[in-house]
Amino acid sequence: MLKARIQTAVSLIYPPRCLACGDWVDSDFGLCGPCWRDTPFISGTCCDGCGVALMGEEDGFRLECDDCMAHPRPWQQGRAALSYEGTARRLILALKHGDRTEIARPAARWLARAATTLLADNPLVAPVPLHWSRFLRRRYNQSDLLAKVMAQDADLDYCPDLLRRTRRTPSLEGQNRHQRYTTLMQSIAAHLKHAERISGRIVLLVDDVMTSGATLSACSEACLDAGATAVRVAVLARVTHS
Ligand SMILES: [Zn+2]
Ligand SMILES: [Zn+2]
Repeated sequence: MLKARIQTAVSLIYPPRCLACGDWVDSDFGLCGPCWRDTPFISGTCCDGCGVALMGEEDGFRLECDDCMAHPRPWQQGRAALSYEGTARRLILALKHGDRTEIARPAARWLARAATTLLADNPLVAPVPLHWSRFLRRRYNQSDLLAKVMAQDADLDYCPDLLRRTRRTPSLEGQNRHQRYTTLMQSIAAHLKHAERISGRIVLLVDDVMTSGATLSACSEACLDAGATAVRVAVLARVTHS
């Protein structure tokens, strides 16, 4: 009640603005009407592996895109809220590099909407970790901001440091897919102090962008190695190759 009152007072002093164009908006939804229509939200039929939009109707069976069929994922299920292009790309870059942390709250809600099915069975929510040296430079992990809001809203357990980067990932440029996977696999592990927490649980990993899925694969393997029964992934945006 008090929280709601404070919220109302805050929005009277700072009426919400559209995250993309700065126009006044009358709800806390994050975007004005035109920007909402302009933002490539994924809806309808999608890949069960990575969340990319697919043509056709859902038929109750598992659907996967060509990419997920060619490269089976160590995680069980994945969803994405947005295609990484246009307004979506701009917003994510602003969240990641532009200190626009206020984008995280509405974005986490878009993600929760896309990933509703992943929230069942009381999963443990954890972000994909940033290496500490990047964290020092950036001061926050955008995936952590998203994971935290998702967990709070859905009343789920949340573990910000479930996974850690064990060393700085060397540049992956010039490495083939297999080499990149191996490099990443050796760089990410579950924190030993969370062994009990992770054992026997489903883990829901949250990240801002999925490109090849190499980082999410390494994180998933780390969770499974530490005793998780299954891993699901929710990403704010999926890079598509079209
Ligand atoms: Zn707008
Ligand atoms: Zn896919």
